[in-house]
Amino acid sequence: MNAHPKKSFGQHFLHDRRYIERIVSAVAPKASDFVVEIGPGEGALTLPLLKAAGKLTAIELDTDLIPDLQARASAAGELHIIHADVLKVNFTALAHSHGVERLRIAGNLPYYISSPILFHCAEHFPAIQDMHFMLQKEVVERMAAVPGSKVYGRLSVMLQLVCRVEPLFTVPPEAFRPPPKVESAVVRLLPLPPDELHDANPDDVYAVVKAAFAQRRKTLGNALKQLLDSDAIRRADVDPGARAETLAPADFVRLAKVHAGRL
Ligand code: SAM
Repeated sequence: MNAHPKKSFGQHFLHDRRYIERIVSAVAPKASDFVVEIGPGEGALTLPLLKAAGKLTAIELDTDLIPDLQARASAAGELHIIHADVLKVNFTALAHSHGVERLRIAGNLPYYISSPILFHCAEHFPAIQDMHFMLQKEVVERMAAVPGSKVYGRLSVMLQLVCRVEPLFTVPPEAFRPPPKVESAVVRLLPLPPDELHDANPDDVYAVVKAAFAQRRKTLGNALKQLLDSDAIRRADVDPGARAETLAPADFVRLAKVHAGRL
């Protein structure tokens, strides 16, 4: 308990009870759920989640924290700790090996790898029911941004094409030990059901989105010229004189399909 937090592991331990309770009630784990926590740390969320669910799997990279956490959890329920880098954990295999269809994932994420964790989870969305994450507030704003907003960009489009993004509440730096330099926020992510997913090739979508936002101030005709000429952009029902920040996620899907010769 109260280990010296390690900067290199992005350790900011949550200590404010009010926010811990709000996160746990947002997750609202049931005994039938298979809950996975990313980065349990000293167990601020782990123990209440474990009490509510009866069992929990937690993925922690810092070996030093594991024995104490395991000992303190014994009274609360069945805690299984995986000592690993979360980016190397195959969530689909984890679900299958426990005979569950979909995992529920939660975590106060290490901010130095928050985007890689989001993209890693996205690769396993068919095996994930929902996610509740604490992230930098600025990242949550980018994730949830709508067209026309200054912070609407690559992350907003790529994420909104595969999940619903629900920002829940903000958390001030003082709620953590040590306080991070930035405001934080909790977000709920719900992977879209198969019938709401687009049918373009994800690599094509990524290529178009990346090029379109590489120079935000340019028109699409200019920004996409290595991939699509103006006629091709019009074939996707998009104005080549528009800027990327005005397009809806579905517009990028049509551009990707034209790029792949499918429209
Ligand atoms: N959940 C705790 C809390 O709310 O107080 C700790 C949150 S702290 C922001 C992030 C946690 O993620 C730390 O325990 C850290 O050791 C762990 N962590 C950092 N990098 C990780 C990685 N690549 N894989 C798994 N856990 C990691």
